[in-house]
Amino acid sequence: MANAEIGVIGGSGFYSFLEDVTEVEVDTPYGKPSDSLFLGEIGGRKVAFLPRHGRGHHLPPHRINYRANLWALRSVGVTQVLGPCAVGGLRAEYGPGTLLVPDQMVDRTKSRTQTFYDGEPLAGGTSQAPGPGGGSVSNVVHVSLADPYCPEGRKAAVAAARGRAWEPVDGGTLVVIEGPRFSTRAESQWHAAMGWSVVGMTGHPEAILARELGLCYTSMTLVTDLDAGAETGEGVSHVDVLKVFAANVDRLRPVLFDAVAGLQASAGRDCLCSHALDGLDTGIQLP
Ligand SMILES: [Zn+2]
Repeated sequence: MANAEIGVIGGSGFYSFLEDVTEVEVDTPYGKPSDSLFLGEIGGRKVAFLPRHGRGHHLPPHRINYRANLWALRSVGVTQVLGPCAVGGLRAEYGPGTLLVPDQMVDRTKSRTQTFYDGEPLAGGTSQAPGPGGGSVSNVVHVSLADPYCPEGRKAAVAAARGRAWEPVDGGTLVVIEGPRFSTRAESQWHAAMGWSVVGMTGHPEAILARELGLCYTSMTLVTDLDAGAETGEGVSHVDVLKVFAANVDRLRPVLFDAVAGLQASAGRDCLCSHALDGLDTGIQLP
């Protein structure tokens, strides 16, 4: 099986410039991930890229198979994940082009499976011939998400941005909505009034599923627009979001690569994520 150490869940704009990228198809007990994994190397570290929405961007946020994505990454050896994503700014000072590395998250999604430990038998095998999931059934497992992001990964992300003269917002709350529609003005004003910083559609359940597998997860959010409650114009349009993201992806790529290179060594991790499953019996064999 191919091996990687670091996973990056983000668009194809991040890996299409790498030399020697190997495409690997991975199946999981939860079905297919969003796409193949694309394995490459950055700064001597083996990285598995996964286009979150699939190549060609055909999967809306609520249709992404988040469980398959995280399981697939762990199955090739990934221990640390970076999840860059586009967001709306909830404060006037967080305009387009702002890079914010959140330290908190609020879940306002509605329809997403957000656990591996749901007591359902895993697909993929019989007792005679176990497959990847072996047909085993998970126990009830409660994992802490008080601090949803890896503190070590956050440090690497912030340092990488500063190293490229892009002063990031260090900390803040990402509120994740169901989508695919954008917020109403009232919802957006409420999110801002709660003190939350940016709004996105994919940050949950990525963070909790990574934590449930004992993986480090770090979110890097790029503001593409001011959300409806923070601006005075027509509201967010999808075209504007794509335009701003495309204009910034060339700027974000080197920051992301530096963050990858600056992540802690995977051997001997001692952050809270690495201890997420200490003393817990999940009942299923993790990949
Ligand atoms: Zn960690």
